[in-house]
Amino acid sequence: MLEQLHAVFGFRTFRGVQQQVVDRVLRGESTLAVMPTGAGKSLTYQLPATMVGGTCVVISPLIALMHDQLRSAEANGIRAATLTSADENRAETVARLRAGELDLLYVAPERASQPHFRELLGQCRIALFAIDEAHCVSEWGHDFRPDYRLLRPLMDLFPGVPRLALTATADAHTRSDILNQLGIPEEGMIVAGFDRPNIRYTIRPREGLTQQLRRLLAANPGPGIVYAPTRAATERLAEALSDGRREVRAYHAGLPPEVRAANQSAFVASEDMVICATVAFGMGIDKPDVRFVAHAGLPKSIEAYYQETGRAGRDGDPATAHLFWGADDFARARMRVQEVEEVRQQGERTRLSALGALVETAGCRRAILLRHFGETPPETCGNCDNCLEPPKSVDATVVAQKYLSAVARTRQMYGAGHIESVLLGQHSDRASQQGHDTLSVFGIVEGEEAALLKPVQRALLVRGALLPTEHGGLMLGPEARTYLKGEQPLDLVLPPKRERGRGR
Ligand code: ADP
Ligand code: ZN
Repeated sequence: MLEQLHAVFGFRTFRGVQQQVVDRVLRGESTLAVMPTGAGKSLTYQLPATMVGGTCVVISPLIALMHDQLRSAEANGIRAATLTSADENRAETVARLRAGELDLLYVAPERASQPHFRELLGQCRIALFAIDEAHCVSEWGHDFRPDYRLLRPLMDLFPGVPRLALTATADAHTRSDILNQLGIPEEGMIVAGFDRPNIRYTIRPREGLTQQLRRLLAANPGPGIVYAPTRAATERLAEALSDGRREVRAYHAGLPPEVRAANQSAFVASEDMVICATVAFGMGIDKPDVRFVAHAGLPKSIEAYYQETGRAGRDGDPATAHLFWGADDFARARMRVQEVEEVRQQGERTRLSALGALVETAGCRRAILLRHFGETPPETCGNCDNCLEPPKSVDATVVAQKYLSAVARTRQMYGAGHIESVLLGQHSDRASQQGHDTLSVFGIVEGEEAALLKPVQRALLVRGALLPTEHGGLMLGPEARTYLKGEQPLDLVLPPKRERGRGR
């Protein structure tokens, strides 16, 4: 096996759990391999594909991803092809498949349900089903693709052919779902270590994002990616961060293909370029020396965050990951939860509160990430913002109660500005017109507490004790009661002093 590894890929040794996975596959045992991005998942089916007689059918969700994989497989001399609507040489591919001349056949999941594809497979020698991005089969995953549910019936027609499901992004719930949905036994799950010790995590509230990013760029040389939530934001940031010294470019699916391709290859070749991109950027890109990944807004889930930050430091050298989040990210995400199908709402809420715990913890960020992937890490890692400089936390329970009471007393329709001015006892036309200056909450926040109002509002939004109204106001959320009744304390984490108040 090692000989073949060297002959085909030029590698002397396996990495991490690769050998364990390949061993199982070669014994014909169905397997779920949970391996982080960059751990070398493709090799675990490509190597067996060159060793067993017969073709390995690889299911992959994106045509672009398939073509990347195809190129790198062919570069290693593996006999491979894709069979997608975008391919003009389909007849040739089918002929090669029938003749047993393919080690790898990449297909999209939609094809699995086509009777004529089933028939075709029936006429060939199939050695392995490899299911890439296998979390797509689960409604619990962050990227559910209904077509993945068609794979089981197809594979069941080939009971002797082992299955290898691959994913980087599965929490415990998603994993057991993948096993069930794809018919893989529980003992067939192999989980790689998820720690990326060379990545330093830093997470901060968004306060003057452009300034925050400028400081970040100044402190972090080397190639970097800034992930922005929208196409427009990628362009805005690229513009704002360009200072004539370092090249900063935008990348998103709405750019003309030639611009996109040019920006991508410039980035891959560059030693200090910054690219402002939507999260699609980075998927099929092999650039091991990315020195930092910054998120300008909240990622979709812990898994997504882990995967996106995992694009930094794949060469093993020190790298950094930065996340700038805002309470409005949580507010918007909560609104979106209301819009998804009811069966999926609980999962979405769980995902969101896991993100809330990550951004708001006073403890080790890495410990939270690793626990999420089922590991039992030490309490501190020594290489995240909180471990390097433990934040102060203050008990803000009373301020939270005052804040929520003010929202309730003013009838759950005003925005943060008005709520704050009521709490601080600031006289205004609006306060007197509405009689808010006669409420018991008028002016009940003073002294040191005043500085806590903004962070308290943020924390209450993150926790679902406050919700945004349709008109930009604030109302009480489902979690408000436990705070108002004093059943739930609010410990607030304050970022280090030297950063506070700067860059507004
Ligand atoms: P994943 O799909 O898990 O994100 P890839 O399959 O794209 O990872 O592999 C990531 C990189 O690691 C590739 O550049 C690949 O060539 C390299 N790689 C994989 N296995 C090994 C190995 N055993 N030794 C050295 N490099 C490896
Ligand atoms: Zn830590």
